[in-house]
Amino acid sequence: MPVTPDALTYADDLADFVASSPSSYHAAAETARRLEAAGFERLHEEQAWEIRPGGRYVVVRDGATIGWSVPSDASATTPSHIFGAHTDSPGFKLKPQPTTGGRGWLQAAVEVYGGPLLNSWLDRELTLAGRLALADGRVVLADTGALLRLPQLAVHLDRGVNNNGLALDKQAETQPVWGLGDVAEADILAELARSADASASDIRGYDVVIADAARGAVFGKDDAFFASGRLDDLASVHAGVVALERAGVADSGPIAILAAFDHEELGSNSRSGAAGPFLEDILGRVYDALGADSSQRRQAFASSWCLSSDVGHSVHPNYAQKHDPVVQPVLGSGPILKINANQRYATDAVGSAAWRGWCDAADVATQEFVSNNNVPCGSTIGPITATRLGIRTVDVGIPILSMHSARELAGVSDLHDLTRVAGTFFAG
Ligand code: ZN
Repeated sequence: MPVTPDALTYADDLADFVASSPSSYHAAAETARRLEAAGFERLHEEQAWEIRPGGRYVVVRDGATIGWSVPSDASATTPSHIFGAHTDSPGFKLKPQPTTGGRGWLQAAVEVYGGPLLNSWLDRELTLAGRLALADGRVVLADTGALLRLPQLAVHLDRGVNNNGLALDKQAETQPVWGLGDVAEADILAELARSADASASDIRGYDVVIADAARGAVFGKDDAFFASGRLDDLASVHAGVVALERAGVADSGPIAILAAFDHEELGSNSRSGAAGPFLEDILGRVYDALGADSSQRRQAFASSWCLSSDVGHSVHPNYAQKHDPVVQPVLGSGPILKINANQRYATDAVGSAAWRGWCDAADVATQEFVSNNNVPCGSTIGPITATRLGIRTVDVGIPILSMHSARELAGVSDLHDLTRVAGTFFAG
């Protein structure tokens, strides 16, 4: 079935969002920029806040961001509906003393960030992006655009590669090239500084990653496919942003919250990760402003929901044996409800029923995901937020292929369907 014009427009907007978000810091800033453009008020954690019913707000903490819309009739016990996602993606991070190389080549010294599919990063134009802490106290974003490449060794010099497979050494074989010349006279930080209108000598610290420079693209029969870097998990962050923009200010219903955390790919343990206090800090200030005492806040939490959205696995036609023999979600048939007996996902019976209700209200089809027992699944922010706050949580997402590749594959209709369900979720 052909995808709708709305879904194609939405995919193009997602491509813009991903292109503007090469690092988690960019993703958090772009989310805040879009929400501010839609009328949200930017708040800063070190300042006093005035949160009112009928108001919409957004806060950035490092590479994480939380935006929320308070309905006009909000009271001390109004529940929250929290759409959770993460801003970071697996890849590489720039090391200290990053300018290396030899034999006429300039290279960048990088660490592996999270669990990327290393081979997928070969032979692509890559950008260097993140944040720079400057001597004058400013923290600025930097993005060089296409600058680097990790060239694969030619088949003539590696005759066995197509029979023996390719296993990259994580240190020796993952250091990308970014130019030609004398290492002693080069400085990759100068490239970053230039992109931020600063000078290399001003840089006192940096958090900089490498990202695929190519733009997302729609293709395939009936425009079914969307390929892009960082769909894990910018597809979810974007779905939440669009749903929150579209939601406007409600007269009644829950407090609609988008919580986009950093560091999920590392286990979420940081001050801007889902295991940290960011969401709890925001909820505390919101309910304080609504006049909630601690039991009223617990009342509100007891009727609140978190929809934890992250990508999941579509069945792969070449590797069907890796999937559950019966439950086999596929691209284009709707967002997935993720289920795991060992609480790698927080979904339970009550959450499943709630999810199906939000999907029905949005007129969106849904599929289930469960792992093959011999192939344990990963986890995500859902169980962490449920454990921290005691808020009922459902793990969902879109099915993709090539998870953790530099360029992942999603279904155009699923992307749009996810934001439609996020919309009915925010409406309550
Ligand atoms: Zn993820």
